[in-house]
Amino acid sequence: MSEALANLLNETRQFPPPAELAAAANVTADAYGEAEADRLAFWERQAGRLSWAKQWDQVLDWSNPPFAKWFVGGQLNVAYNCLDRHVEAGRGDKVAIHWEGEPGDTRTITYAELHELTCQAANALTDLGVVAGDRVAIYLPMVPEAAVAMLACARIGATHSVVFGGFSAESLTNRIQDASAKVVITADGGYRRGKPSALKPTVDEAVANCPSVEHVLVVRRTGEEVAWSAKDHWWHETVEVASTAHTAEAFDAEHPLFILYTSGTTARPKGILHTSGGYLTQAAYTAHAVFDLKPESDVYWCTADIGWVTGHSYIVYGPLANGVTQVMYEGTPDTPHKGRFWEIVDKYQVTILYTAPTLIRTMMKWGEDIPAGFDLSSLRLLGSVGEPINPEAWMWYRQHVGRGELPIVDTWWQTETGSMMISPLPGVTAAKPGSAMTPLPGVVADVVDDQGQSVPNGGGGYLVLREPWPSMLRTIWGDDNRFIETYWSRFGAGASGNAEDPWIYFAGDGAKKDDDGHIWLLGRVDDVMLVSGHNISTTEVESALVSHPSVAEAAVVGATDPTTGQAIVAFAIPRGTTETGGEAGEQLIAELRNHVAKTLGPIAKPRQIMLVPELPKTRSGKIMRRLLRDVAENRSLGDVTTLQDSSVMELIASGMGGGKSDED
Ligand code: ATP
Ligand code: MG
Repeated sequence: MSEALANLLNETRQFPPPAELAAAANVTADAYGEAEADRLAFWERQAGRLSWAKQWDQVLDWSNPPFAKWFVGGQLNVAYNCLDRHVEAGRGDKVAIHWEGEPGDTRTITYAELHELTCQAANALTDLGVVAGDRVAIYLPMVPEAAVAMLACARIGATHSVVFGGFSAESLTNRIQDASAKVVITADGGYRRGKPSALKPTVDEAVANCPSVEHVLVVRRTGEEVAWSAKDHWWHETVEVASTAHTAEAFDAEHPLFILYTSGTTARPKGILHTSGGYLTQAAYTAHAVFDLKPESDVYWCTADIGWVTGHSYIVYGPLANGVTQVMYEGTPDTPHKGRFWEIVDKYQVTILYTAPTLIRTMMKWGEDIPAGFDLSSLRLLGSVGEPINPEAWMWYRQHVGRGELPIVDTWWQTETGSMMISPLPGVTAAKPGSAMTPLPGVVADVVDDQGQSVPNGGGGYLVLREPWPSMLRTIWGDDNRFIETYWSRFGAGASGNAEDPWIYFAGDGAKKDDDGHIWLLGRVDDVMLVSGHNISTTEVESALVSHPSVAEAAVVGATDPTTGQAIVAFAIPRGTTETGGEAGEQLIAELRNHVAKTLGPIAKPRQIMLVPELPKTRSGKIMRRLLRDVAENRSLGDVTTLQDSSVMELIASGMGGGKSDED
């Protein structure tokens, strides 16, 4: 960015926590002061939530930055911490997972049963020759076996690499090859949008090009016919007949736990490596603090897929380390009807719901009558992750899901950070709609300018992390140089080459501090637009559009413009019953352009707006602006392989001729 990010959006609404929740909250405001007084002692106390086979000698070794070691010398078993210790404490009969298949079939799995299944899978993997340090690829639908497979790897010290079940054979091949995985765990298929969706053929295609793979373990889910080779083993003929006795061995705190490839909006995916002790410490602490988890009474539901980091930290490791009961759902939110999510909340009396802005905006588009048709009174806390949440979507979530009274935690973090970093504390923070608010206790985040100087309140710039944190990535698998280059070379010692300077992690995101010093995420810095010499964030313009009552969702890009450098081009999805044809559409577009100018100032007025039925999204549901920029600049489309639905782009491109409004 050549100059500070313009600070256009001004949000003054603020919602203090409900008194009852605040009075009983797991974490109070004291935590901030405690962490500030002695950050390492604070994290050391959080590590004490786990069971360690051997106590650590040193909390943090930062002598070789940016390569951190946490809880040096300590030993633990991650699966033991998620399972055995709850069973040993007499909580084996407690439900760990209420699983709901898309067709409506269900499974209830207690902690004792999840423990047994994991022991069986650990024994089966050992029989297949998997030893500590080996890599295992997991390519499964949202079935309980996905969690079991991850925990079984953790139990025997194998490093799992979960690949999202929607990825192609090529993506799977790249990831298996990059990590030299020895075993692949998959299924015949899963249910999506009302029908079986095969997985095994994709694995067969990938494995043909992956000589490292010795065995393929196949869960039977759909019962559809699959091709079979000498490497293949049915899960029910190996795991389910294995012994349920298995003693968990303790591993070093820095023993690799998993590799997870970032979703890949960039060309070559990065294998983000996480290790054991520090990762589990922060995943467990943040789940406790931010979700206010009460294992005795809460029913928690995170709607993410296990293939994303959210599924790792807030379906498997964080919640299970806390011993809570959770819901796991296999399918899509509109199968067989658009109320499926709310039906599940109602059925299992879910108390805490963690989802993504893309889903909230989709629900807005479908209309508030749908959640209104279900009993959502069990809910007590709502969460959001994955993208900046537009203030209007936040308000809708609070109003129509949260009865106008529930706190919302907008949690900022990344695959790389392993756990939440910036978020309200539900019993403490008076949250502002659209702001992730403040760094969590023990986290040191800042917003800096081009020179790495902290910006004053009211200023915008680059989001950085100034101090190492327990669940930080340790490297990019097999590529230490790329790790340093990608995350540590923009500011601090990695930029100056001066060993005296601190090492500063640059997250890739733009952010601003409001007048109270609260942090607002503004999207990736690559997405920031430069319009007539002003840096304008796509997020702010999108939020202004979404604040219009006729808009459910919007994506904004900067397109090259002869007079202004870049011009703002917007794509907007109208809400429910909005009239968009012909003259009504033209009128709405004119109104929206004026609405943005009025909300943010004339500088942010879009040059053109297109009304579209859908937006291109990554498979984790994030808006893919790169492709919209191609459309806006009349280029042929770039790589669409990571799109959720590639036909969306044809739809948008074909409509590009109409619906614009070029002059003022
Ligand atoms: P890739 O790095 O491969 O392009 P990705 O960044 O989308 O993929 P993730 O690690 O899942 O993969 O997402 C982290 C990013 O998501 C953050 O850097 C940020 O841009 C965005 N993000 C996540 N949570 C929030 C939030 N609460 N508010 C704003 N942005 C968020
Ligand atoms: Mg990223």
